[in-house]
Amino acid sequence: MQKLQILADSAKYDVSCSSSGASRAAGGRMGSTHTSGICHSWGADGRCISLLKVLLTNKCVYNCEYCVNRRTNDVPRESFEPDELARLTVEFYRRNYIEGLFLSSAVEVSPDYTAERILQCLELLRYKYGFMGYIHAKVIPGVSRELLHRIGLVADRLSVNVEMPSRESLAAFAPQKKVEQIFAPMKQITNTLIETKSLKGPGTMFKGQRLNDASNYLGPAGLADGTAEDSVTSALSLAKGARRKGSFAAAGQTTQMIIGAGNESDASILATSENLYRTFKMKRVYYSAYIPVVDSPILPDKSTAPPLRREHRIYQADWLLRFYGFTVSELFKSGGENLDPDLDPKVTWALRNLDEFPVEVNTASYEQLMRIPGIGHLSAKRIMRQRRFAAVRFDDLKKMGVVIKRAKYFVLCCGRYYGDRCFAPETIKNSLLQMESGLQLSMFDNDWKRIEEGERQEKLAAAGVI
Ligand code: SF4
Repeated sequence: MQKLQILADSAKYDVSCSSSGASRAAGGRMGSTHTSGICHSWGADGRCISLLKVLLTNKCVYNCEYCVNRRTNDVPRESFEPDELARLTVEFYRRNYIEGLFLSSAVEVSPDYTAERILQCLELLRYKYGFMGYIHAKVIPGVSRELLHRIGLVADRLSVNVEMPSRESLAAFAPQKKVEQIFAPMKQITNTLIETKSLKGPGTMFKGQRLNDASNYLGPAGLADGTAEDSVTSALSLAKGARRKGSFAAAGQTTQMIIGAGNESDASILATSENLYRTFKMKRVYYSAYIPVVDSPILPDKSTAPPLRREHRIYQADWLLRFYGFTVSELFKSGGENLDPDLDPKVTWALRNLDEFPVEVNTASYEQLMRIPGIGHLSAKRIMRQRRFAAVRFDDLKKMGVVIKRAKYFVLCCGRYYGDRCFAPETIKNSLLQMESGLQLSMFDNDWKRIEEGERQEKLAAAGVI
């Protein structure tokens, strides 16, 4: 129990899955997922999967500035034996506590030593105990190619943490982790996924765009040999005629970066993500608001609140990149380097590009409709479908799922504008903020601050800082 408590607690900063360990005030009863290391992830079909999220060890030879498990931090240390953790996972599964395992680890002795033990644990789980549930395994930067391949054959998802949004921050905060040691396993995973045909070739997500045109972090210099484009292309040619052999990390790869520890702007964070999505075909980039748990002269002070609202806006902007056809350069082309913390990034973009609005919903292309605040995939499709038979009227929009309160400032219906304010960025912004203040965005004022503070206190208390 003590090991489990320490190693599950140490894993809570890793967010390469959508975690929801909600704290319940009345502890000691059943079902609380807060302290037990059980988190929730969501499958592509929306199904919720409970995962045991735990480290194999928190004994670390590295000394990353931001990390509670770093070598020089005085915290209790523990390690699981591979068989011990495999048995624990199976027993939890049998009792229906979990449906899968999220296994990460500090770097004990060396990357290969740690990876070898992770592999032992996963192979025991799969081959000795017959566990067929979901496994998400962390890949230690610097791991050998062979060990990584074998881990990929027993895990459903792999993730290598990019850790920081820029080379400079990585060098400052995690000097023992080299950019090449992070990108080499990412590249190997991508190439193997392409070879086994789990991934399509370049251009599936960012069709028509050049690789590596927006980041100073993930340029060709960041890769050990050749450009990402070369590597993907050569893997594709290898894949021609290749038969699907064993399943390798069928759920793809993800990564995580910490935001708010360094000085990167939102634009530069998202440019790094854009390149990660393009170059390595990431399923997700996860963002983790930096929680100050260690004293360091180069990090924000311990009393600094984690930038949760910023994290939220970056997740929203990330969504725009992946599903709405936006690029980072577009999002920031006519504004500063940061997102407006008070507004949804799509609204911010629309207000900064008001010359592209209002858009006539009866003639706009699907891509234009998708850029209108308040209109999503489904409503854009419904508008396109109805237009084939009859003109879309303003009253129809609500029935199609459009958020009228937001969209009305940016659309025309049959040539008519329905916004109740003059068509100017500040006026629309104020009106939207007022409107939202009665809804969830009231949280961005007092409620949000209260929640941020509550979460901060809770996380600091859990980390033993207060
Ligand atoms: S490698 Fe760095 S981030 Fe990972 S556990 Fe060790 S100190 Fe923490």
